[in-house]
Amino acid sequence: MAQPKGLWQRLVKRLPGRLRRWLAHPTLSAPPEIPGKLWHKTLAGLPCLHDLDQGERQRLRQLSARFLAEKEFHGAQGLLISDAIALSIAAQACLPLLHLGEKALDWYGDFVGVVVHPDEVLASREAVDAAGVLHRWQEPLIGETMAGGPVMLAWSRVLGGRQAATQGHNLVIHEFAHKFDLRGKPAGAPANGCPLLPAGFMGLSRAAAQRRWQQAWNAAYERFGEQLELSERFGEPAPWLDAYAAEAPAEFFACSCEAYWVARQRHAREFPELAPLLDAFFRRPPR
Ligand SMILES: [Zn+2]
Repeated sequence: MAQPKGLWQRLVKRLPGRLRRWLAHPTLSAPPEIPGKLWHKTLAGLPCLHDLDQGERQRLRQLSARFLAEKEFHGAQGLLISDAIALSIAAQACLPLLHLGEKALDWYGDFVGVVVHPDEVLASREAVDAAGVLHRWQEPLIGETMAGGPVMLAWSRVLGGRQAATQGHNLVIHEFAHKFDLRGKPAGAPANGCPLLPAGFMGLSRAAAQRRWQQAWNAAYERFGEQLELSERFGEPAPWLDAYAAEAPAEFFACSCEAYWVARQRHAREFPELAPLLDAFFRRPPR
């Protein structure tokens, strides 16, 4: 269900045409700024943003402003989308875009809608097995990303995850990481943990870059699955990353991205073979 637009969207609607055109073509002039009080409150409430330097914060503020102007938020089940909710989601969604240049928001160019539920939802699923039998079941969802479609988030879990950065959790980054994975894939192709790598990635040819990516991620995924199994079956220490990462390579990639953005040092210690690949993918400067 659509909800009344927030302050920022109302503000953008009132802008003169030239400024509104800027939001689509940022070379024309400077964008309107997010109100300072709202921005600082958002930063303060998101521990994953506390390590950003001044330049990164300013860049994130600009990206968030453009994200809010380009996307449409919808509150489901009676949830009213406040400015604080919209900005919190925008800032977290834009964190991985921080070093990707002027066209960073193109990574999110295949959709407009962000659907926010107050809590997890039960989604109806059905599938036909090898014997031709139709199975129907309900699956609890806290977030979902569809190729070419909206991103769905459960607000209670977005809120809950804000303090869970040390465990490497961030639901917003997880769902938007699926958008990175899906970008450039043929219609109908699922996310698989192998995003389209930019030309010249790590100084390698396209084929060599894809090979390097797949070898490192396959090995890390396999190792993680083994560690998880040892912990579940034999009581060995549980691996640090969210166990949900073992569901599929696409989930391993999304869980790794959220961990990389909210707990970079720990992620690099746990997955030293993945850290340089994510540094190169997100063009993140070394600390
Ligand atoms: Zn996922």
